[in-house]
Amino acid sequence: MDILKIRIMDISDKGYQIDEIIKVVELQPVDVEALPIETIHLQGIIKKTGKNFLFQGKISGYYNHTCDRCLDDMQYKLDKEMVWLFERGQANIFLNSVDESDRHGESKHRKDKEEFDELAEKRIFQGDEIDLTPYIWEELVLDTPYKFLCSETCAGLCPVCGTNLNHETCSCNINREEEKAQLSNTKLSELLQGINLNLKEE
Ligand SMILES: [Zn+2]
Ligand SMILES: [Zn+2]
Repeated sequence: MDILKIRIMDISDKGYQIDEIIKVVELQPVDVEALPIETIHLQGIIKKTGKNFLFQGKISGYYNHTCDRCLDDMQYKLDKEMVWLFERGQANIFLNSVDESDRHGESKHRKDKEEFDELAEKRIFQGDEIDLTPYIWEELVLDTPYKFLCSETCAGLCPVCGTNLNHETCSCNINREEEKAQLSNTKLSELLQGINLNLKEE
């Protein structure tokens, strides 16, 4: 993304400031699943420190999702501060090792990933610009919750009639504990049957 490609020559002694609303889809690499967040606000400054560059900033926004328990629409706040050091790297070192892994056939994929991890950790840039795009994307991926819950105490849906128990109650409630016990008994006996069948087949 062009806004996030910072030309070294534009970084003055006072640093180079960024304050942008960014469409997340424009950060998304090809062949990667979209994230449930539409726009982010990126604020930061990139400064020269000796031969390297230091980026300090924050991203904020909202993930939009349905609650994994009650299926209501919900938002999850993103508010992340970053400090990244960018070192100038040597382009040929990276290219040579990729060539080498080519010769090893099946280990290529793993090798490439290792190369990527190493680069990401050191945050090496090459040429005359620093591209923040992959690092911002990485932060968004890492910050995406594993599970979306509208609240810690979300009561979820009634497993019998589907009523959202955060808003309403239903009459299934009375027999629920009994049914739960029945259900797990049924599951257990099905499971045991399955194991028996497997043993017989062998
Ligand atoms: Zn919920
Ligand atoms: Zn119910």
